[in-house]
Amino acid sequence: MSVFDHPAFDDHEKVLFAHDAKTGLKAIIAVHSTANGPAIGGCRMWSYKDSSEALTDVLRLSQGMSYKNIMADLPLGGGKSVIMKPQGDFDRAELFEAFGRAIDALSGNYYSAEDVGVSPEDILNARRATQYVVGLPGGTGDPSPVTAKGVFLGVKVAAERALGSSDLSGVKIAVQGATGHVGAYLVQHLHEAGAELFLADINESALKDLAAKTNSTIVPIDKIYGVEADIFAPCALGSVINPDTIDTLKVKAVAGAANNQLATRDMGAELQKRGIYYAPDYVINAGGIINIMGDLDPKYDAKWVEGKLQGLRQTLGEVMDRAEDEGTPANIVADKIARERIEDARVRKAEAA
Ligand code: NAD
Repeated sequence: MSVFDHPAFDDHEKVLFAHDAKTGLKAIIAVHSTANGPAIGGCRMWSYKDSSEALTDVLRLSQGMSYKNIMADLPLGGGKSVIMKPQGDFDRAELFEAFGRAIDALSGNYYSAEDVGVSPEDILNARRATQYVVGLPGGTGDPSPVTAKGVFLGVKVAAERALGSSDLSGVKIAVQGATGHVGAYLVQHLHEAGAELFLADINESALKDLAAKTNSTIVPIDKIYGVEADIFAPCALGSVINPDTIDTLKVKAVAGAANNQLATRDMGAELQKRGIYYAPDYVINAGGIINIMGDLDPKYDAKWVEGKLQGLRQTLGEVMDRAEDEGTPANIVADKIARERIEDARVRKAEAA
């Protein structure tokens, strides 16, 4: 399928197909927008069925990064890269160095970091060939605590809208993926804020410990959707709000860390129809990318990060206000605001040129 006719093509600025016969590298780098700064987004390595599947993934993910970065008010654009995992044995260090050469060819239009299937060590190997990488070992480190802090603030916004107060004491919250990198920090914040917690995770031993420490109730993984709670915080998988789960939800709001929570865009309208508030995932979970700014420039220090997290809280409030005022689903409102901001940035950049 051609790139320009692809259904996920959204006026992407650049799409680079990189092949290196020696290492077996087959990668696609998609730069969705640099209107507001260099495009940043992780590299995902996956056993894609074919290059068409990889292209679809990278076009969608790079657009998502543009939206996430602009909604977090970062001086960044959006991009993403995918590597088609070679079959059989391959030299991982050489493969990532070749990937680094592909990044370098974009001369700083795109910065890569890790994503699914890629480790900080892989990015270190890419670093041998390019300076345009972030999230290296010894840098700003694990983004999860900052992501969790942002999600915690977002849960408070959701509580304010859905329950009339941001005070979480006694508020019942169901957390899926409770023992994960983000989940465990979030659970700690919610516990300290006095919430009554219901936790699910496939990691049973870690879950038992966490539940004991936070006086929480353990819920079987398939029962987490139907808990009689006020808020559902998905912090594990994507597509958890889908036709099979939506009618089991008893909560008044969905606010969590997981990427791509809605299986399809129309699930936002389905939530709204049921009177359930939704905190769009790429708005509430941008703490990690905010944290990564510290890798680009030391002026982005802890105080700056804290200010940006408070900004996320405000943006989420604006999205929810507009969703209510316009009767439009929050995910659609967020996409609209993101597109407006990107267009404004594009016009500013063109005028400054
Ligand atoms: P993680 O892998 O550390 O945590 C996921 C947790 O979910 C694990 O504890 C796992 O055991 C659990 N899990 C898996 N399948 C489950 C199931 N069926 N039911 C219940 N629990 C299940 O990942 P993470 O870094 O904590 O990220 C969690 C989510 O947040 C992901 O969707 C990720 O894309 C998104 N996210 C993470 C960050 C970050 O800073 N780490 C930033 C933005 C978005």
